[in-house]
Amino acid sequence: MTGTPGTPAPFTADDYKARMDRAAATAADAGLAGLLVAPGPDLIWLTGYQPVATERLTVLVLAAGQEPVLVVPTLEAPDAERAAGASALTLRDWSDGKDPYAATAPLLDVDGRFGVSDNSWAMHLLGFQSELPDTSYVSLTGALPMLRAVKDAAELERLAAAGAAADATYEEIKKVAFAGRRESDVAADLDALLRQYGHSQVDFTIVGSGPNGANPHHEAGDRVIEDGDMVVLDFGGLLHGYGSDTSRTVHVGEPGAEEQRVHDIVREAQEAGCRAVRPGAACQDIDRAARAVIADAGYGEHFIHRTGHGIGVTTHEPPYMVEGEELPLVPGMCFSVEPGIYLPGRFGVRIEDIVTVTDDGVRRLNSTPRELAIVN
Ligand code: ZN
Ligand code: ZN
Ligand code: ZN
Repeated sequence: MTGTPGTPAPFTADDYKARMDRAAATAADAGLAGLLVAPGPDLIWLTGYQPVATERLTVLVLAAGQEPVLVVPTLEAPDAERAAGASALTLRDWSDGKDPYAATAPLLDVDGRFGVSDNSWAMHLLGFQSELPDTSYVSLTGALPMLRAVKDAAELERLAAAGAAADATYEEIKKVAFAGRRESDVAADLDALLRQYGHSQVDFTIVGSGPNGANPHHEAGDRVIEDGDMVVLDFGGLLHGYGSDTSRTVHVGEPGAEEQRVHDIVREAQEAGCRAVRPGAACQDIDRAARAVIADAGYGEHFIHRTGHGIGVTTHEPPYMVEGEELPLVPGMCFSVEPGIYLPGRFGVRIEDIVTVTDDGVRRLNSTPRELAIVN
């Protein structure tokens, strides 16, 4: 593909109202008095409002049978009023010098149990606990694991567009010079390409060459890439508010026999993980399917992370494809399948696609070739 895909229609106040209603109903079903949503991905998803979390309290209070209320600092109220979901909620502002927890307390059951955004600042949660000592709090994600996990058609369209832009980036990066340049130079190329293909935000551009590839989250650094290096590329960010995240491993010049073999094993593991995706399978089944291939090949101890993570308005979110996660897959869930083998001091290999669960199996949102590409 070339150029930037068309801009999808923005989400409307009705879309956000439907999400808030569903969240409040789901919370009630889970036995919660309500949800306290902090600035961050939950708030973006529920309201379209994206303030920076600060020491001044901003919180969305959701409870079944109650109008959604967004409590904001007075000075930020004008921004909040412009949020796409603002007309579907009531704004309540508090001014400097007032106690924001006392201002919010009348909206809350005095002895209720509330789901709190995972990224809520501890100081704000402590403020509520101090104001209402009989309330209790649980992780919003823990209590409502499916809240953002299943994507609707409009969200899938955005994730597919982000995936296509990441794929276009990979096709272009294979053409740049690797040998003789620093990892950080190739990372800068990845950043520029992601933006050229429409990303508004780049979250990571991992370039792990030679031994650095054995560190799964290696940040691109000063190492000069050499002929003969394996290079792990893992990059992504946000396009139209939804995430991309893909990995491919390339080799500078002709690969050695072991490099090719290890890559073949990871590729087969990634295929096995994707083949295991279908409605009703457990998240851990995806991890088991990929891990079995690597373990059977004798590299089990070198696959040192979970097989995948969810993706949506962030590039890393629940559900996780990890041993012990029994959450069943549901059509519309989107997550990564990204097994790897990491040989300390030598090299690493990772292959990653974003996939979505369909009615009868899986659809990949990344489709660039998965064989070991040779770069210069
Ligand atoms: Zn090599
Ligand atoms: Zn990744
Ligand atoms: Zn990932």
